[in-house]
Amino acid sequence: MTTTPTPYDDAKAQLKRAQEILGFSDDDYELLATPRREITVAVPVKRDDGTKTVLRGYRIQHNWSRGPGKGGVRYSERVDMEEVRALAMLMTWKAALLNLPYGGAKGGIAFNPAEYSKAEIERITRRYVHELFPVIGPDIDIPAPDMGTDAQTMAWFMDTYSQAVGYTQPGIVTGKPVSLGGSLGRAEATSLGVYFTTRAALGHLGIEENDATVAVQGFGKVGRGAARFMDKAGMKVVAISDVFGAIYNADGIDTDALGEHVDETGKVVDFAGAEAMDPEELLLLDVDAVVPAAIEAVITKDNAADVKARVVVEGANGPTTGSGDAILNERGVMVVPDILANSGGVLVSYYEWVQSRDNFFWDLERVQKSQEAAMLAVWDEVVEFSKEHSVNLREAAVSMAVERVLDAHKMRGLFP
Ligand code: GLU
Repeated sequence: MTTTPTPYDDAKAQLKRAQEILGFSDDDYELLATPRREITVAVPVKRDDGTKTVLRGYRIQHNWSRGPGKGGVRYSERVDMEEVRALAMLMTWKAALLNLPYGGAKGGIAFNPAEYSKAEIERITRRYVHELFPVIGPDIDIPAPDMGTDAQTMAWFMDTYSQAVGYTQPGIVTGKPVSLGGSLGRAEATSLGVYFTTRAALGHLGIEENDATVAVQGFGKVGRGAARFMDKAGMKVVAISDVFGAIYNADGIDTDALGEHVDETGKVVDFAGAEAMDPEELLLLDVDAVVPAAIEAVITKDNAADVKARVVVEGANGPTTGSGDAILNERGVMVVPDILANSGGVLVSYYEWVQSRDNFFWDLERVQKSQEAAMLAVWDEVVEFSKEHSVNLREAAVSMAVERVLDAHKMRGLFP
């Protein structure tokens, strides 16, 4: 009997591939594969009706060789140790690829925030921060938003931490509200980066943005902004989905009007400017680029052979499984890997952390120009590495990142 590989198995397979490309020892592989610190905490919460529930929370610090841990906190029913392990490892590579002075970490609480009130989510967040207090800090591990969390969550996070240390410490989290020292441009940074990398990938294939057609899976923190930036730049966003359904318009969806519809109704379906479509078909549309920007494991061995787009841009973390990726690769579909495509978030998190520490704030233009320059430079480096070593973009990006982490580790040496 074969079991389906977990996200952590897939992440380790990517590291194994980097080992083959770079040629380092099995000992070093073991060192890079093993998370430095894994924490599981109980998060007891008093419900609004007076009853008590105990949730399970996690924080995994995968690697610290290049700096403090960095990575988001996810609130979702799907959160478990294996998922957090995989996501923490991806954060290590993402930060190193962007040359940020961070290691990788990730956290989460296993619950569905849609089933809890705002007051309950505040209590859950504060208790989780309290439990993690000894192992987080602006020089230890700096959380940020991820699936199911936002600037409000980070404000509670910062406040709880600050109450414990006895002074306001904005550097403990990124993705904070701008009014609390958050950075301009952070909220839309992941989406903007997805747009930059989509444009770069299409340009690489000789497709102009004005001629490009795109389908975006997800209309949340990443997909909504990405679709909007693409629409504004002249790309035709022909299909968009959310958890409730998908919509299609061959002439391109007006993303501003769709945004208003979603703010009113909470869903993309029934939008007057498009027709309904089968959400299963969205990633299989005959468009130039598909952008999975929602959850993991949506391009798998079961549908990868039917992807017709020339480019897959991974707005989400881990949307393509290892076996799905192999099929896309064989078929010559270009995949812009998550650690590059969605790295705008952690990149601008870094800018925010620097601003929080300096108490000196950048204007939006500085943030976005810096982001564009940094991401396009990394795009060029990844393309260059992939040509030089005859590997695909994921193999190139992971290898470049792994090489940097390994180098830092070797220079520091093994203690004691
Ligand atoms: N959660 C985002 C990610 O997966 C951002 C992490 C951060 O800003 O630290 O990259």
